[in-house]
Amino acid sequence: MGAFDPGPFPGPSPSIARVEVPVETRAPGGTTNAHAAGGLLVDPAARTDALDAAVGVADADSDRDGGTPEIDAIAVTHAHPDHVGAVAEYADLTGAPVFAHADHVDRFAAATGVEPDGTFRGGDRVGDTGVRAVETPGHAPDHVAFAVESAGGSDEGDRGVAADAARELLCGDLAVAEGSVVVGAPEGDLREYLDSLDCVRAAGYDRLYPGHGPVIDDPEGVCDRLIDHRLERERTVLAAVEDGASDVESVVDAAYERDLTGVADLARATVVAHLEALLAEGRIGREWGDRIGGERADGTPKE
Ligand SMILES: [Zn+2]
Repeated sequence: MGAFDPGPFPGPSPSIARVEVPVETRAPGGTTNAHAAGGLLVDPAARTDALDAAVGVADADSDRDGGTPEIDAIAVTHAHPDHVGAVAEYADLTGAPVFAHADHVDRFAAATGVEPDGTFRGGDRVGDTGVRAVETPGHAPDHVAFAVESAGGSDEGDRGVAADAARELLCGDLAVAEGSVVVGAPEGDLREYLDSLDCVRAAGYDRLYPGHGPVIDDPEGVCDRLIDHRLERERTVLAAVEDGASDVESVVDAAYERDLTGVADLARATVVAHLEALLAEGRIGREWGDRIGGERADGTPKE
């Protein structure tokens, strides 16, 4: 019996609105989760009625003076196409200021079509919201998560988010409840990704709210699983090289047993990201620099 006891409900219900929105760009499962929490709208990937309701925007028929938008700021976890689609529209509808990572303003503006009204760095509160940014690069260079301060616990700490002040993290594409996150060249950086997972695991959040798929109730277990998955893939890639693979194609063939129809480009990008990490650490020969060099010259330069 005890094994099934869910235990005491952990404090007041988090005031996090999670809205699954369909997106037209490639996205895991075809949807992205937008969130509204602590006055911050995160990842408005597309406009929907449910998201309108979550942010207090009156329907399109009535005039917007009737509604009182319930958000104080808009931001994204990262500027990939499946996270940014309706930033401009919701900025317009709500009048809320838009915030971007201070080091990635141009990238943000290019992806959203919006010049940010303000910026943040890891540890900063985003505008006047009850939410702080947490640096979590790896999946993308500009990737951040947002830690939601629990109601009543919004002390003005000056450094990052203490684990006891924030129990919930809007984690974007850092983690997913099932399966794994793409960390591929040229955008992805495996070592940064593993470090980010490590930090989030150590912070001891109660729940993670990912950009795709269901809420994660076991952050530590999921972070462990994702880290293990990466290290396992790395061992496979390294073994393929040691077994004589001499180009990216043959490493991909060795590293993936399943049919890659439809995801071959992602598999290849993933393998290249692993090879980049191994090369940077001197664990594979320098000749791999040339073999994977072309991957960076495909028009999407590594930042
Ligand atoms: Zn992404």
